[in-house]
Amino acid sequence: MPYSYDDQNIFAKILRGEIPNNTVIETDHTLAFADIHPQAPTHVLVIPKGAYVTYEHFAAEASDAEILDFTRTVAKICAGAGITQDNGARYISNAGPHGVQEVPHFHLHILAGRTMGRMVA
Ligand code: 5GP
Repeated sequence: MPYSYDDQNIFAKILRGEIPNNTVIETDHTLAFADIHPQAPTHVLVIPKGAYVTYEHFAAEASDAEILDFTRTVAKICAGAGITQDNGARYISNAGPHGVQEVPHFHLHILAGRTMGRMVA
């Protein structure tokens, strides 16, 4: 599925250093930073540095190195935030209009530190 990437989106501006962010981890291919409107005690956004619009776009077109870097960065954030099998977390990626995606650069929300509400569509 073809995607068109808007390089004026907020996360593209964060990646270019045009907007400040509260960085949690930065690697060669991935940036993680605190959500500006946290919905839980831990609310981290993880984004690839590459221009991917949604999770599906990233999963289909990113290189193995980008995907591995992203997933291992998620694991490091979870370890740093004290997320374990005993307490848990929620991982969300909204996509497109039906997913009510606000920022059109693929991002994973990591929410933790409290019991979440039951998922509703
Ligand atoms: P979405 O609805 O696209 O899945 O989520 C976008 C998220 O980005 C929201 O949780 C929102 O609070 C966050 N956000 C929007 N603008 C900024 C910003 O300028 N800085 C940071 N750190 N987060 C932002």
